[in-house]
Amino acid sequence: MTQPSHWIDGRPAEGSGAALPVRFPYTGEIIANLRAAAAPEIEAALAAATRAQKDWAAWRPADRGRVLLDAARLIRERAEELAQLETLDTGKPISETRVADWPSGADALAFFGGLAGAVTGQHIPLGRDWAYTIREPLGVCVGIGAWNYPSQIACWKAAPALVMGNAMIFKPSEETPLGALKLAEILTEAGAPPGIFQVLNGGRELGAALIGDARVAKVSLTGSVATGLSVYAAAASGMRHVTMELGGKSPLIVFDDASIEDAVGAAILGNFYSSGQVCSNGTRVFLQDGIAEAFLARLAERVAALKQGDPRDEGTTLGPIISPAQLEKIRGAITEGRASGARLICGGEGDGPFVPATVFVAPDDSPLATEEIFGPVLTALTFRTEDEAVARANALPYGLAAGVFTRDLARAHRVVGRLEAGTTWINAYNLTPVEMPFGAVKLSGIGRENGTAALEHYSQLKSVYVGMGPVDAPV
Ligand code: NAD
Repeated sequence: MTQPSHWIDGRPAEGSGAALPVRFPYTGEIIANLRAAAAPEIEAALAAATRAQKDWAAWRPADRGRVLLDAARLIRERAEELAQLETLDTGKPISETRVADWPSGADALAFFGGLAGAVTGQHIPLGRDWAYTIREPLGVCVGIGAWNYPSQIACWKAAPALVMGNAMIFKPSEETPLGALKLAEILTEAGAPPGIFQVLNGGRELGAALIGDARVAKVSLTGSVATGLSVYAAAASGMRHVTMELGGKSPLIVFDDASIEDAVGAAILGNFYSSGQVCSNGTRVFLQDGIAEAFLARLAERVAALKQGDPRDEGTTLGPIISPAQLEKIRGAITEGRASGARLICGGEGDGPFVPATVFVAPDDSPLATEEIFGPVLTALTFRTEDEAVARANALPYGLAAGVFTRDLARAHRVVGRLEAGTTWINAYNLTPVEMPFGAVKLSGIGRENGTAALEHYSQLKSVYVGMGPVDAPV
């Protein structure tokens, strides 16, 4: 595949840094040879963004919105080609990338594009005098992505940033650089001026170099908690704004009165979709005593029907793991879990680039129940009372997501009200429509993506006090 390494100032560009081969996770075959960005590309992108952002911010907001709406239309027109590229880049089954990745990205561009003209400030009456607020862009924003939803992440960050009049330099994960390059091409075709959305590819040093530059006003990261802590600290040294979408170990609580079929379905979606490589997965499934064995039996039965294989095949529902390093990490956790005596319901280490859907029952202090594995590994735990489930669910330092399954309406709302998580579901799991704010509490992050809330994280308020009469001075 001939593929530019970067997108700088409205054009494809080559890199002068280290080789960055892109592999198809299913075969390990190299599908593109990129070169990482080094100092000249970083400088070119920062200079272009700084220059272009001022003009872009002066555009009529609805005109900025129209660029995003056109980009959403182009994505939908090219849906099949983009889904195939996403499958090659990530190894995720085509049955997923056709419905989840770029379609969600297009939704974000359309949602924020449509909102562009609706963002206004406030009028504050003060008697004779008055004040008003202006919602201003932040300036040049840096987006840094993870490898599990590379195109969706790029769109979720770019859409609110651009609509508010910012420029964005996006650094995809070094594992999955191809989708964001496409987004840059599409936004350019849709009329985004040069420098408004640029893509620089490279590793963590590139991310660190961008965050450290005085011209950067904000960084929005999707990645692990460890990376988040270090990026947040680097951003703090320049008082830069941050959005942190990090990892977790989210609880999914299933009460005795729940629909087993629905709860099992949610546990499958929330643990094995994208081979479990999803940040908000409900990897700690708390089962009330009365439902536990029936739930586990039905889960094992349904999971056995997952079809592991070539992600390009329409029937595949469990694809390969992104990289050998991630495979090793997941297999290590499974081997350790078995050695610790945790009860294995189904699955195991697997072979080739695959890990089968794996279910353990383990105690709360097992690493299976405390550490993010980021693979298809579900840990079930049993509980007796609501209070106990809530306390145990909240016991970890993470707080990305949580789910509750029950037919008791009052209990459902009471429990989500008590769960320490930024995004929660009642009788559903892992649905993230762009209309709904998505984000975390505790170590899992700060800030929000999606929904109108995201606009606030890509803008700042200027207050204007208007004196309408004589100035009263003491002398
Ligand atoms: P990662 O933290 O290793 O890398 C994420 C990105 O940060 C990459 O682009 C990487 O190059 C960059 N990076 C790493 N160190 C950096 C540094 N010091 N300075 C600047 N940039 C740096 O994460 P990953 O392995 O790509 O993705 C998996 C993780 O992402 C999981 O923990 C998962 O839960 C999380 N995730 C969170 C969300 C969310 O929305 N909350 C979504 C997807 C993934």
